[in-house]
Order: sequence, then structure tokens, then C-alpha cells
Amino acid sequence: MAEMRDRYDAMVIGGGIAGMQAALDLGEQGFEVLLVERTPSIGGVMVGLNKVFPTLDCSSCICTPRMAESAHHPRIRLQTYTEVRQVEPVGTGFRAELECKPRYLNEDTCIGCDECELACPVEVPHEFDYGLGARRAIYIPHGNAIPQKAVLDVEHCIFCGKCEKVCPTTCIDFAAEPRTVHVDVGAVIVATGLDILPMGRKVEYGGGRLPNVMNPLAMERIQSSNGPYGRVLRPADGKIPKSIAYIQCAGSRDRSIGVPYCSRVCCMYALKQALLLTHYIHGVEVTLYYMDIRAFGKGYEQFYRRAVREGVRVVKGKVARVTEADNFDLILRVELLDEGGRVDEHRYDLVVLSQGLIPGWHPEGVIDLDVADDGFFETPEIKLNPSFTTMSGVFVGGVAAGPKDIPDAIVEAGEAAMAAANYLTRTRWRTRTHAA
Ligand SMILES: Cc1cc2nc3c(=O)[nH]c(=O)nc-3n(C[C@H](O)[C@H](O)[C@H](O)COP(=O)(O)OP(=O)(O)OC[C@H]3O[C@@H](n4cnc5c(N)ncnc54)[C@H](O)[C@@H]3O)c2cc1C
Repeated sequence: MAEMRDRYDAMVIGGGIAGMQAALDLGEQGFEVLLVERTPSIGGVMVGLNKVFPTLDCSSCICTPRMAESAHHPRIRLQTYTEVRQVEPVGTGFRAELECKPRYLNEDTCIGCDECELACPVEVPHEFDYGLGARRAIYIPHGNAIPQKAVLDVEHCIFCGKCEKVCPTTCIDFAAEPRTVHVDVGAVIVATGLDILPMGRKVEYGGGRLPNVMNPLAMERIQSSNGPYGRVLRPADGKIPKSIAYIQCAGSRDRSIGVPYCSRVCCMYALKQALLLTHYIHGVEVTLYYMDIRAFGKGYEQFYRRAVREGVRVVKGKVARVTEADNFDLILRVELLDEGGRVDEHRYDLVVLSQGLIPGWHPEGVIDLDVADDGFFETPEIKLNPSFTTMSGVFVGGVAAGPKDIPDAIVEAGEAAMAAANYLTRTRWRTRTHAA
């Protein structure tokens, strides 16, 4: 990987699929790019997904080649586990202050052999599997992580020294400190992606309180062959679920929780997961409770029809609440909209909340960019220049600009890269950088 310098043509914030695409497009055009990711690995949400709608391709199989390409590109410097603290305009470019968090090992000499992880006696819930699996206090973020370097979680480390003893390259460094670096860049692309609405915000659905009410990203991990269980089991007691309900718009199109907009992908990811469940569990019944099905993309309507044809039940109904019965089963109280609002109750083994998307990052105090009412970055020229933000030289791509699926995130990131390239050429930043 290229060395860290103090000047780049562009800085891309966020190493998800959109950020990687923007960095690669700029790198391919000859620009020097700094790709900053706050977690220990690039890949974003996509690397943790099971399969993608509507093609049902393996998500990590199409994401990891992009990750490897970004990491090995001669004009891209990856800076993982790094927070952007400040970005200020200077002339036509920007000065950024970054905080590189310590992994508590020498990144140059760590060979990702896993020995430290195997020796570590501490187990903690694994973030990558949404707490359903465990990791050690020193660990490689996940099997597809890039870079394949360990990271030590000091909050849980008991400093027993076992990792240090087995490390073949003696790279562990318990005394490491965060490092602040300053870098000058000619343009910035913000690709900071998404979070899902915290489950607790819809108190009546029991998310976060009832163990068999799941979030959809945890369901992606459970469905993945490299997930926490290796097959679909319900979290509370390891039982194979035979009846599963999806609650749509559980955190979208709902003014009461401050998310009035449609998150666009929830219908499709729920249909995808529901269809796959019918493939994975013999005789399972999967029901989707929805207000409207929004199958907006190429081939999506056909995918919806396929899911229904292959046994996914779709019911127009508003779920009022979820309560726990005996044996961790769940009771849904639902108003059936196609039956004149009749109220009914149904029992399920497992419930998945189709939670809406919210911004993955809030820029206050870091960069003086406006956000729209929905919290995503303001794009004042949405029709003709969709990646333009309220600051000249700063562009936005992917879900940072608003909820969208992977193909749209990639297209928008490409547009952001093109806009940044035009900006760099217009401001002659590149010429000055290369002459310096
Ligand atoms: C349950 C679920 C299933 C889905 N299934 C599909 C599907 O099958 N097909 C499909 O097309 N779409 C699907 N999607 C949508 C898809 O996940 C998104 O379109 C895609 O991940 C957007 O990519 P992104 O790069 O914009 O954002 P992200 O994937 O969120 O990446 C953003 C990156 O930026 C990093 N970051 C955030 N803030 C900072 C910061 N301040 N500094 C540095 N780094 C930062 C994050 O750590 C992350 O790595 C699904 C979404 C969900 C929730």
C-alpha cells in the first residue's frame, strides 16, 4: 500500500461501496486519493450482506474484489480506523485533521495470521454479527476484512500478554497512542453511508428488548454461510424458526419518530430475505406486513412477483404492537387494511423489523456542510449535479445523500468522482500538486 503523504488530490470519507467506487474512479484517472474509513476495515454495509436483490448474487463475492482493488491501487492510500476531526477550506482546496486510532500493534509488521486472536481468552459480542456471535479482545474484524490486520479493543483487554507471547512478528504494542495528522487535499467526497434506525425507537415492536425481534442487518448475518450460526436459528433459544413475520416501515414513513421519508430499500431487502428463508428452512411460513410495496428498480417488480409466487405471503396490514408469549414466541397485533381494518392477532417464532435508513454520519463541528431536513447531506443541484453539496469542492455519493440501493449508490459515487475530477482540473490543483 502507498505511504501516507501530506497532500492528495482528493480525500474520500467513507470506505463503503460508494466511497470505494469514487476512489477507484479518481485513481483510474490519475488522481492521488486518500480513502478514510473510521472502522478497521473497508467494505461498509455491503460486505456484511448475505445476497443482493434482485439477482441474489453473493454480496461479499462482488464487494471484496472492489475492496482488494481499492487497497492495492497505486494511487489510493487507505487510511482505516481513522476519524476525520476537521475539514477547513484553504484556497480552492482543504486542510483536514485526521485522528488515526491505534490498533495497538504495528500495522506494517502484522501479517494477519490470527495467532493473537486464538490465544486471547476474552470473548465479547461481535459487532460485525450484531452481537449474535463472539469475537476476542484482539481480533481481525472479519474474514473478508481489508486490511487483514488485527485490532486490539482496549476496553475489553485484560492485558494478560498472551497475544504478545504468540505473535510471530512481535508486532503488539500496548503503549500505542492515537496519532493526529494533517493533510491538504484539492477536493473532498463524502460517502459516509447509512445506519439503520435504532430498534428501540419503535417501543411498541419490542426491538432491543425481546430477543426474537431482530434487525434486518442481523438477519443478513444469520442468513450468511459465514454468519454467527452458519444457518438460520432464532437468537433466544437456537430453535429453527418455522413462522417468521416482517414488519415493513418499522422506522420509515413515520412522523412520530422523526423519519417521515421512505427508505426505498426496505421492501426489497425484506422480500429478498423472506424468499431466501423459504429456500433455507423447509416448510417455513414467511409473512410480510406492509403499507405499500415499493419495488422501484430494474427487475424489482419481477422479483416481488417471484417472491410471492414462491410462497412469501404479503399482507396489507399495520402492526400495532408485538408482545412476547411463552417460549419466546411473539404475538403480533395487526390491523388488516384489506379487511376493513379488522384487528387480528398472530403468533410467530421470529419477527424482523424492516427498519429505515438514517445518515451514517453527522458532520457538525467537522465540516461546514448543510444537511437537509431528513438529516442526509443537502444536494442543492439535485437535478443536474446530484453530487454537489453546499460547499464548492465537496461532493457527496451513495447513501450519504439519501437512501438508495447499491446500483444507485455506485452510479452516484461515479458522478461524484467525475465532478471532483472536473473541479480539480478547473482549480488546477493537480498541476500544482505534481509540480510541488
Ligand atoms: C438490511 C439491508 C439489506 C440491504 N440489501 C441490499 C441488497 O440486497 N441490494 C442492494 O442494492 N442494496 C441493499 N441494501 C442497501 C445497501 O446496503 C446500500 O445501498 C449500500 O450499502 C450503500 O453504500 P454506501 O457506501 O453509500 O454506504 P455504507 O455501506 O454505509 O458505507 C459507508 C462507510 O462510511 C464509513 N463512515 C461513516 N462515517 C464515517 C466518517 N465520519 N469517517 C470515515 N468513515 C465513515 C462507514 O463506516 C462505512 O464503511 C441493503 C440495506 C440494508 C439495511
